[in-house]
Amino acid sequence: MADAADAAEAPPSKRQRLEAAFEAQGEEGRRKRQHLCCSMCLGPFDEPVFVKPLGNTYCKGCITAWLSENRTDPLTGTRLTVREGNIAAVLVPNIAVQQIIDAQSVPCRYAARGCEAWSALGDLEAHEANCPCKPSKCARCAFVGSRLEVAAHEQACPFVVLGPVLDAQNARIRNLEGEVRDAKRRLTAEHEATQRLKARLEALEAQRPGDLAVVSPPAARRTRATRAGPAETDPTLVFQYPPGVAASDSIVVTRGDLRRLEPGGYLNEKLVDFYLKVIVADARRSPLAEDPDFGNMASAVHAFPSDFFTMLSAGNERVERWTRGVDVFAKKFLLVPVVEDLHWSLAIVCHPGELAKRAIAGHIYPTVDSADHEDGPARPCVIHMDSRGSSLHSARKIEKWLRCFLEMEWRKRHAGEEPFTLWAGPRAGSAIMNPADLLLARPKVPQQMNSADSGLYALRYAQEFLTRAVCRGAPLAVNGRDVSLDFRDHDFEAWFTGRDIAEMRRDIKKLAADLELEKIRAAYRREQAEDAAARPPRRPRQ
Ligand SMILES: [Zn+2]
Ligand SMILES: [Zn+2]
Ligand SMILES: [Zn+2]
Repeated sequence: MADAADAAEAPPSKRQRLEAAFEAQGEEGRRKRQHLCCSMCLGPFDEPVFVKPLGNTYCKGCITAWLSENRTDPLTGTRLTVREGNIAAVLVPNIAVQQIIDAQSVPCRYAARGCEAWSALGDLEAHEANCPCKPSKCARCAFVGSRLEVAAHEQACPFVVLGPVLDAQNARIRNLEGEVRDAKRRLTAEHEATQRLKARLEALEAQRPGDLAVVSPPAARRTRATRAGPAETDPTLVFQYPPGVAASDSIVVTRGDLRRLEPGGYLNEKLVDFYLKVIVADARRSPLAEDPDFGNMASAVHAFPSDFFTMLSAGNERVERWTRGVDVFAKKFLLVPVVEDLHWSLAIVCHPGELAKRAIAGHIYPTVDSADHEDGPARPCVIHMDSRGSSLHSARKIEKWLRCFLEMEWRKRHAGEEPFTLWAGPRAGSAIMNPADLLLARPKVPQQMNSADSGLYALRYAQEFLTRAVCRGAPLAVNGRDVSLDFRDHDFEAWFTGRDIAEMRRDIKKLAADLELEKIRAAYRREQAEDAAARPPRRPRQ
C-alpha cells in the first residue's frame, strides 16, 4: 500500500475544520462559535493573542496587520504604546483560548470517504495518519481506494500475486540492460580502434608515390646513379613480394629501396627483381594473362633474378641455384636482366626448347634463307635490348654466357642424350653446329635520356616484349623469319616514350604502396582475430 495517493489533496486548515465542526453541530455549534470568534475577521480564532495591557483577544494575523497602521485597540479605541515599532512585544499568546480551540471535537478529513470518527482538533493529525478511510494506492497497480479497500484489493491483485515473478523478471531485464551497456562500450572501443587504424591507413595512402614525386626536390637528382644517399639505406621493411611466401623465397623491399623510385633514382637489384616478377606473375598487370593461346604464363616464361647473370659471367658454375625446380627447356622465354657497370639491359632467350628438340631428334633446322620456313617451328634466339645501344654492355658476351649456361643445363639434365654444342668443337662444320642455331638479335629499342633510368627501360622491354611476343595479332612473333630477316633491323623505338618511363616509376610506387597497405590490412585482420580469441567468454546469464 502506498500513502502517496492523497499527497495532492491539501489538508484543510484548522479554521476550516472548526467551521465544519460548528456547522455540523447546529445550534450548539453556533453558540460555541460565538465564544471563539475574532471580532476583527469574524471567524474562529487563528493563533489567539491578547494585547498588553488591555487584554482583548484577536487572531495574531488580524491584530498584527491592524497595529502596523494604527496605535489603538480596534475594539475600544484606547491608545496603545508600541515601542520602536515592535508589535510582537505587545502581543501575548492566549493559551487558555488556544486550549479551548484545541479541545474542540472535529470530524476526520476523510469523512467524505466514510470515516465517522471525531476527535479533538489537537489530536486530529494522529488519527488521520492511521485513518482506515485514508486514500491509498496499490503497491503494484494503479488502483486507489481507502486503506481497507486497498488491503482487500491487494489480496486479489494479479500484480501483487505475481510480484515475486515480476521482481525476478525485472532483475533479469536490468541484468540484460547492463550487458547491453557493456556490449555498447566494447563496440565503441572497437569502433575507436578501427577509426585509429583507418586514420593510419589514410595517412599512409596520403603519402602515396604520386604525391611524393611532387614533393621530391629536383636537387635530389643524381649525376652518378650509383650514389645512395642516407635515405636510400633506410632498412625499414615495407613489404615482401610475393606476400605470404617464406622470406627466403620472396623479395624483401625496404623503405630505402623504394626511395630509388623517385625521379632520378637508380633502380637496384631488388626493385628490378621485384617488378620483373610482377610483370610475369601478376595477372592484373600482365597482358599475358589475357591471351587464351598462351596457356599458363608461369609454365611458359621464367624470369631470372638479377644476380643470375652476374654470377654466371663471373664464371660461377653453380647455376643450380637459379634453376632449381625449373626446366629451362620447357619454357618459351627466359628473361635475363643484366646489370654491369651500373647499367641495366635485358636479354631474352627465346624458345630454348627448340634447341633441345633438335639435339634429341638430330633434327637439322631449315636454313634461314630457305623459302618455305615461314610457318616453321619457332626459332631459338637471344634478343638483347639495351637502352644505351652497345656502349656499355656487350651483346656478344651476354649471348656467349647464355649459350654456355644452356649447355651446362642440358648436360646436367640430359647426361645420356646427345650434347647440343653451340661452340666450335670436335664436330664443327656439321649442321647441328650451325652458329645460326642460336641467333643473336639486337632490335632497335627506345633509348634512355638520362643516366638513371636503365633499370626501368629493361623492365619495360620485358613488359612490351611479352605483350607483343605472345598476344594474338601482335607484330613480334618470334619465329625463324622474324629473327633472321627482320629482327636485327626491326625498329621498336615506338614501343614507348620517356614519358611512359616516368609514368612507370609512379606505377611501381603505387603498386608498392598498395602492397604495403595490403600488408598492414593483413596485420590488422590478424590482430583482430587474436583479440577475438583472447576475449574472455561472456558472463553466464542469470
Ligand atoms: Zn481574526
Ligand atoms: Zn478518519
Ligand atoms: Zn493492485
